[in-house]
Amino acid sequence: MSEKLLVIVIDAFRYSYLNKKLTPNLFELAEAGSFAKLESVLGYSDTAKFSMITGAYPEETGIWAEFILKQKTSPTRLEYLPLDYFPHLISAPIKLLFSSFLNLNLRNIPLNLLKYFEPAKEHKHMVTLFDLFNKHSISYFDYEERNLKILERGVIKKIESTDIDVVFLKIPDLDLQGHIWGVNSSSTIKRIVSVDKHIKRILNSFKSEVWNEEFNTIIMSDHGMVQVKQYIDLANVLRRFCKEEKDFIAFYDATLARFWFKNAYAKDKVSNYLNSLKIGKILDETELKEFGVYFPDKRYGELIFLLDPGYIIFPNFYEVLPFPPRGMHGYDPKFKDMLGILICSNDLSKNTVKIVDIFRIILEMLNISY
Ligand SMILES: [Zn+2]
Repeated sequence: MSEKLLVIVIDAFRYSYLNKKLTPNLFELAEAGSFAKLESVLGYSDTAKFSMITGAYPEETGIWAEFILKQKTSPTRLEYLPLDYFPHLISAPIKLLFSSFLNLNLRNIPLNLLKYFEPAKEHKHMVTLFDLFNKHSISYFDYEERNLKILERGVIKKIESTDIDVVFLKIPDLDLQGHIWGVNSSSTIKRIVSVDKHIKRILNSFKSEVWNEEFNTIIMSDHGMVQVKQYIDLANVLRRFCKEEKDFIAFYDATLARFWFKNAYAKDKVSNYLNSLKIGKILDETELKEFGVYFPDKRYGELIFLLDPGYIIFPNFYEVLPFPPRGMHGYDPKFKDMLGILICSNDLSKNTVKIVDIFRIILEMLNISY
């Protein structure tokens, strides 16, 4: 068995992109090796990545959505800035600028509500693939780059100068493309074709220039992409029934709304309204456990509303693009357009693989017992 492993993660490459006409190179690799549909976890890209490198669901890793409710609210000076009086088109880019200048993660949270939330933290006991690589003296290189030419040259240069056993390459391109332009636009199609060509070039470079020996490959995505068909400004419509802060606190991710209530009346009103919308469902305890996102301490919300594929909350607290996205992920991972791909040089003997299984697949390929 080969000692070397190349893992290429194509962000938001959905299952339907893999076909002979659109992506002939990946299709050829899938036919030559083994291939499976990839089922992600409920959440966004960071959730999927953390579940992949730990082999565990969010309720075990601690990482689900980006923000949780703060135990103790603490006011921030930023809340006095009048930014949220401007439309999303103006306020979202300014918040993005503030985030990078002040080294904060504001996302698009209304500044007066910032005091209620803090970034989610992973559970300390989690063991990642990278911890195990260190323990077993396996050298690795984890590299992400939007420009595919720079990605290719960058990784070759790095590996020529150091002896590396495992390489993770992340191609983030198609995620932003899908969000901005949707899944069927000519711009997205062009990028898919380009990613397909570049992957072949990267593999050829690894064969001829980088590793002069047999190596294993995994080419995978972290989730699919769904065409958006309808937007709802949920914060705005809920103001008709209840008062934010006095009655409830909510965090609006794009495809999830998460609530903490201050009284039973508000919980009842909001639940009834959400049920009447017919654009999603309130997840009960059994469903939260099935998704692996059941947190008894309710840090992610005491009521979780998941939207049906194609619907999104907009504006929301997560969105940093100045305009409504045309493509979105973060829906039920079993929905067909949410499925990603897994192409493997080794035998998978499964039609569908879950993203949490990648942890074991990689350890087996590298002969690491855990
Ligand atoms: Zn995304």
